[in-house]
Amino acid sequence: MSNELYEKRREQMFPKLTPLQIERLAAHGTRTATRAGEVLVEPGERQQRMFVVLEGSLEVEHGAERVTLLERGDFSGELSTLRGTGGFTRIRVREPGTVVSVDAERLRAVVQTDAELSEILMRAFILRRMGLVASVHADVTLLGSRHSAATLRLREFLTRNGHPFVSIDVEADAAAQALLDRFRVSVDEVPVVIGSCGRVFRNPSVSDVARYLQMNPAMDEQGVHDLVVVGAGPAGLSAAVYAASEGLNVQVVEALAYGGQAGSSSKIENYIGFPTGISGQALAGRAFVQAQKFAANINVACQAVRLDCERRPYVLELADGRRLKTKTVVVATGAQYRNPECSELARFIGAGVYHAATHLESKLCQGEEVAVVGGGNSAGQAAVFLAASCRQVRMLVRGPGLAESMSRYLIRRIEESPNIALHTRTQLSALEGNGHLKRIRVRHPGGEERRDIAHVFLMTCAAPNTQWLDGCVALDEKGFVRTGADLRPEDLADWPLARAPYLLETSLPGVFAVGDVRSGNVKRIASAVGEGSISVQFVHRSL
Ligand SMILES: Cc1cc2nc3c(=O)[nH]c(=O)nc-3n(C[C@H](O)[C@H](O)[C@H](O)COP(=O)(O)OP(=O)(O)OC[C@H]3O[C@@H](n4cnc5c(N)ncnc54)[C@H](O)[C@@H]3O)c2cc1C
Repeated sequence: MSNELYEKRREQMFPKLTPLQIERLAAHGTRTATRAGEVLVEPGERQQRMFVVLEGSLEVEHGAERVTLLERGDFSGELSTLRGTGGFTRIRVREPGTVVSVDAERLRAVVQTDAELSEILMRAFILRRMGLVASVHADVTLLGSRHSAATLRLREFLTRNGHPFVSIDVEADAAAQALLDRFRVSVDEVPVVIGSCGRVFRNPSVSDVARYLQMNPAMDEQGVHDLVVVGAGPAGLSAAVYAASEGLNVQVVEALAYGGQAGSSSKIENYIGFPTGISGQALAGRAFVQAQKFAANINVACQAVRLDCERRPYVLELADGRRLKTKTVVVATGAQYRNPECSELARFIGAGVYHAATHLESKLCQGEEVAVVGGGNSAGQAAVFLAASCRQVRMLVRGPGLAESMSRYLIRRIEESPNIALHTRTQLSALEGNGHLKRIRVRHPGGEERRDIAHVFLMTCAAPNTQWLDGCVALDEKGFVRTGADLRPEDLADWPLARAPYLLETSLPGVFAVGDVRSGNVKRIASAVGEGSISVQFVHRSL
């Protein structure tokens, strides 16, 4: 957010509560006297409370330069306060007085039950987070190289999870060497994440980063959940919003970042309600906040590796060894692009070969020539998006044209873009480069040719993420999960109930599959969202 926009939005970011609104909030909190200089919250603190100032004043410190003063009628807090995760600011008492403090659980109760306060608080929290993300100050610094796949993965992880950080590129940033020296890090050790207290993580995994930055709320490993949703793409988020809003105890586990494939889309134009289009990240961000509002517990960087389906309640095993007990499961693990058979491909993933076309990737290839592989809607969307910033976009399509696989509006845009060239009956055959992709080879009916293209976007057909289900539920011949009426008699040989499986129910009672992972699903955001919401009706019946 620019400084100008920041000032404009200030009023909505820091609205004053009326005496009546304060009274309603105060009923959910405790009145506390404050002393000058007292620190009420430290950055990174997980058990945050929201403070409403009744008398005196508070200073909210974010980075060295931005201090916000809260006076009578003002309140503290942002999305992490609602979510119960580590926060980003220090709150210190300037003038002694009285505050009302409201803990995360009571705060969620307020936003669920008081429509007027909910609108004021939610809008302020969302805008405050946007301000933090856009700020040039952040407690977390990612020091990496634009040519490193591991750096791109961490940038994607922090960006897509809306976590404020400063990114410094060792290839391009003048400040990089001083930071490397100060923290005694060699260039070979990047990417490096440097935290607020100067702790340095060399080439960390996303789960290390999530743990260190306290990005997740605590998860209940003892009790039995009503529902565990696996995957936080559009289908999983939709199931979480509906289930939590209907009072179920919902735990969501997501391997990387909320939003799934949709989160990697630059602009979605066919989702109802957004006539001018919306980025996947913005759409997913809204759904994520909405799920928090209804108290769904969402953990990111949290991969499911196995479902123990021999016992009831079901037990879901996570990559970090934790185990969750649950009465029902919604499988919403979607699909991911299948890599074409092409030599040396794995070496260049994230270093010239990408599976998403968002602002992150487009910055890496500004003004250059790029190739987009695939003939579906996601490939078309990527080509149109990249054409705005790249010199030339080459679409490589295996078939004779786009008509069968792509929406008409995208085909027309591609035809009308002077810098998009369509190469039909063409396949990527090899990649060349040293560390970063330099050149590609393509095969077509006329033979094989080399092109100096250093950025390739792979948007070919998708394979389902079902490895973790390992024999628990019936799959179709391509590995997608069979549900409802598509289940064959042989799939139901061990079905224990008198009733037939519900719509969206798998061959295991109480385990549902929604979205792209489901056999026969239409691969669209709207159908993922629709199936996620419908599944909750059947979760209720199962319970
Ligand atoms: C670039 C792009 C652009 C697109 N544009 C459009 C568009 O404009 N309009 C449209 O309608 N559709 C579009 N689509 C298709 C749409 O995004 C998908 O149909 C939709 O995202 C499917 O949602 P989902 O929730 O079923 O699965 P996904 O979006 O695939 O989400 C699945 C989630 O599960 C997580 N996961 C996987 N395995 C595990 C595990 N073991 N444990 C925990 N979590 C796991 C993944 O990390 C992921 O976040 C686009 C797709 C792409 C890739």
